[in-house]
Amino acid sequence: MKQSQRITRITGGGSDGWDVFYRARSMKAAGIPVLELTIGEHDIRTHPDILAAMDRAARGGHTGYAMVPGIAPLRAAVAERIARQSGVPTGPENIIITPGGQSGLFAAHMAVTDPGDRALFIDPYYATYPGVIRAANAVPVAVAASPDHGFQPQAGALDAAATGAASLLINSPNNPTGAVYSRATLDGIAQVCTDHDLWLISDEVYDTQVWDGTHISPRALPDMAERTLVIGSMSKSHAMTGSRIGWICADAAVIRSLIDLATTTTYGVAGFVQDAALFALAQGPALEAEVAAPFARRRQLTLDLVATQNVVRMSPPQGAMYAVLDIRATGMTGEEFANALLDAEHIAVMPGESFGASAAGHIRIAMTIADADYVAALNRVLAFAAAQMPGSLRAKAN
Ligand code: PLP
Repeated sequence: MKQSQRITRITGGGSDGWDVFYRARSMKAAGIPVLELTIGEHDIRTHPDILAAMDRAARGGHTGYAMVPGIAPLRAAVAERIARQSGVPTGPENIIITPGGQSGLFAAHMAVTDPGDRALFIDPYYATYPGVIRAANAVPVAVAASPDHGFQPQAGALDAAATGAASLLINSPNNPTGAVYSRATLDGIAQVCTDHDLWLISDEVYDTQVWDGTHISPRALPDMAERTLVIGSMSKSHAMTGSRIGWICADAAVIRSLIDLATTTTYGVAGFVQDAALFALAQGPALEAEVAAPFARRRQLTLDLVATQNVVRMSPPQGAMYAVLDIRATGMTGEEFANALLDAEHIAVMPGESFGASAAGHIRIAMTIADADYVAALNRVLAFAAAQMPGSLRAKAN
């Protein structure tokens, strides 16, 4: 039977970028110990107090259908958090609760693009972005952000790609690069959006992980509230990846349409998970800082270690839980390096190419294992890189 083109074309006919990850998982399944520095999953689990709140809610009977847009107190708490952080007046009518940021990204594109519309996104990008856009039947158009500009997108390149486009998807703090978009970058983005009448989809799921600079939500820029859809999530901020809970914040008319979409797709998010999220948000920034702290520490460890050698280079991540290492000096592509590293050292990292052409010749390391293990693993990655250099002893032996 013929499946729809919409679904068979989600990966664009090529790889979905997760090949090294899947290979690492099958090596593990075959009993080979592999150290995974691949996905954005914390090494801590959801806080026991959040789990206790979830348990209380479930046992208290919140196991039936929950309200499709989200329970009223959670919509209010998310709106209050966004208003406090961004200064933009925000009410529950501006919020829909979603099963994670990922489904929010899809729903947002469904809300603002028609089939065949061009939907812009920045390269390097979170690996699911082009697939999300294709799943919504829009046409993904990558706009390069170069390492030479600290991976900050340039208004000129955006402007050149924007004619006739419907939307622009951005992500700051950025996965994979760690770039936190500056006020100047965001002003340029806002200008392009207003000049070309684009919707802006702003993925802010790493907003609690900022190490350098300040997180600015573009929804707060002049004239941007009406055309911006902010994607939020409890996954990274509260180590609740498996609970699948996030939100979209947008103009009330857009939220009403998104509620129609949710009614025909997810039918909302489990009530006991929403109660747990409400409890977690009520703990305030202290808990968010506790969840973020290990990544700040490991970022510093990474900077210190990378500074001890001169083969691998990096631009210091300003946010998020990853380090992007430039391994171009080895003469290998990111994919070759990641595959060879997996075979030789049993360490799995993501090839930069998984995140787009602009990250070619790089690898992304998720800083998601205990500090001492992380330092040991990073030392092995750096030693492996040195051994790949033309003229090195190991290269000669090979
Ligand atoms: N956006 C970015 C940039 C991400 O890195 C991720 C997950 O890694 C997501 C969205 C989706 O997160 P979730 O669906 O768990 O909220």
